[in-house]
Amino acid sequence: MDIIEHHREGKNFESYIKYEVMIAKHGWTVFLVLFIEDLLARIYLDSQDFVAPLIFVQILFFALFYGVNLMKLALSKKGKEVPKYAFTVAKILEIVIVAAFVSTMYHSPFFYSVALLPIAFICMSRGFKNTTPYILIGLAAQMGNQLMTLLLFRNTGIKLLDARFLLYFIVIAAQYLLFTVFCHVWSIVYEEYLRSEEENNILIDRLGDKYVQLEQVKKEIQAHYDKIRETNSQLEEANNKLTASVAEFFTLQQISQAITSIFDMNELLKFVNDVIIGVMGVYHSTIALCYGPHNKLKVQVSSIFDKKDLAIVSDYINSDVLKPSTEEGRSMIDNAVNPDDYPFTKGRDIQSMICVPLLAKGKTLGIVLIEHNMKDAFDSENVRLLEIIAQQVSTAIENARLYQQMHDLATLDGLTGAYNRLYFQDKLMEEFKKAQDKGYDLSFIIFDIDHFKKFNDTYGHLFGDQVLKSISAFITKTLRKEDIFARYGGEEFVILMPHTTLEQAREKAEDLRQGISMLTVTDRVVSASVTVSIGVSSFPQTAGRPTELVKTADDALYAAKNGGRNQVCVAQPRDNK
Ligand code: GH3
Ligand code: MG
Ligand code: MG
Repeated sequence: MDIIEHHREGKNFESYIKYEVMIAKHGWTVFLVLFIEDLLARIYLDSQDFVAPLIFVQILFFALFYGVNLMKLALSKKGKEVPKYAFTVAKILEIVIVAAFVSTMYHSPFFYSVALLPIAFICMSRGFKNTTPYILIGLAAQMGNQLMTLLLFRNTGIKLLDARFLLYFIVIAAQYLLFTVFCHVWSIVYEEYLRSEEENNILIDRLGDKYVQLEQVKKEIQAHYDKIRETNSQLEEANNKLTASVAEFFTLQQISQAITSIFDMNELLKFVNDVIIGVMGVYHSTIALCYGPHNKLKVQVSSIFDKKDLAIVSDYINSDVLKPSTEEGRSMIDNAVNPDDYPFTKGRDIQSMICVPLLAKGKTLGIVLIEHNMKDAFDSENVRLLEIIAQQVSTAIENARLYQQMHDLATLDGLTGAYNRLYFQDKLMEEFKKAQDKGYDLSFIIFDIDHFKKFNDTYGHLFGDQVLKSISAFITKTLRKEDIFARYGGEEFVILMPHTTLEQAREKAEDLRQGISMLTVTDRVVSASVTVSIGVSSFPQTAGRPTELVKTADDALYAAKNGGRNQVCVAQPRDNK
């Protein structure tokens, strides 16, 4: 209710001002109409009644009314700053002036109600309760004025409607009574209307507040929802990353396991190639390694099955387009492959590719090339994973090479590249046991360069080295894969030949002797050749044990030397001893 009262107070003042301004602006027209009516009534109904003093009094009232209204307009412009009583005073003046004017009229009883108009506006704007004093003031003013008018103009001859004195007052009293009752009833109805309207307004306001709150809550819920969605997508992303990194971890573990368990390099590369295809879902994967002094790429393993396609890849793998990888050690990615730029993709409809170098100690060992028949198939994550795989593979290749180097150092002779004596001794035991167990012939050849001391003395030690190298190269070229060729001492070499009879070995020795004798070693200015003396022995024909095999062959060599050199001597069969 407080709210209603408060609400109403503000509103009442506003409407009060509104009505008062309306009266102030237009009231004079009513006044003018009344004035003209009175004038006309006096002229036409009773021309003798038209007298200047009355007109003057009426004009005076008119002017006063106008003055009061001007004052009200001025007050209303100042609004709430003006003390309330100023309006009250103006109102009272207005009522009194109108009442006074009406009472001077020829038909005054007919226009008594006009004096009620200012009071009616009060009732409309401020309610019945506030109107009561004005009603009383109006009643008093009208009665007083009427009385005064009658008394003042009684003897002037002016006719103030020919009626009885008492009737005037009864009419005025009755009119005010009726007006009061009407105001009261109207006020009750209007109050009720106002109340319901105000309540409605308050309800609408509250509804508005609720709506605002609801909007707020809706916004908060939306914000929460957005946050949840964001968190959800973050989680999803984290989950994807985790899944990807688990898959990556699993892949790398698989490869490192393969590196430790697969010793054959080709087999290992094949395995890695399959893993790459499986993990990256690529169309093709190829691993090529560098060979030779110019580091030429050679395809090692590839998922390309078609022989023609593979031949094209092998032919064009050294094309310039891959130079950033092969020469600068950089990874390459192209998601819109132009086949003219990549000759090795000819006829295979490749749209995307990644090339990652296999690097070890800043040197390119080879490349891993993955291809896809879809555009935009790869991203930087693919490059990253492939680089990690390439790093593992490079380490494996490098390790294998180092192992090979160590193995070579331990087993090969540095000058000639033939096996060394230590390795030969092991191999001899091994091969002898195999031949013995399986019952096949194992022959042994030993040869020594003739007069090599003199050769060295004549041409120099370095030239002598050159001779040792050429003989080794020649021998290596003429031997079978299963034959073992070793440098036994300074210029003494041995050959172990499984599945070879004494006779076959002798023939071979003879071929070698002739071949060596025809070798010419040239060193810019000098050109020379050497001969060799050869001793041959064989299991089981001439020797029953490994040491015996060497000993008998050595004896045969000794015999060859003694026999004049540049010849082959065969050990004596065992039964002859
Ligand atoms: P022959 O065997 O015919 O009886 O005579 P020879 O002069 O070859 O005698 P011998 O086998 O005793 O001599 C071995 C010579 O081989 C001694 C040494 O100067 C030479 N020689 C041994 N190892 C090397 C080597 O690594 N490089 C060079 N240039 N000469 C070597
Ligand atoms: Mg010798
Ligand atoms: Mg010699």
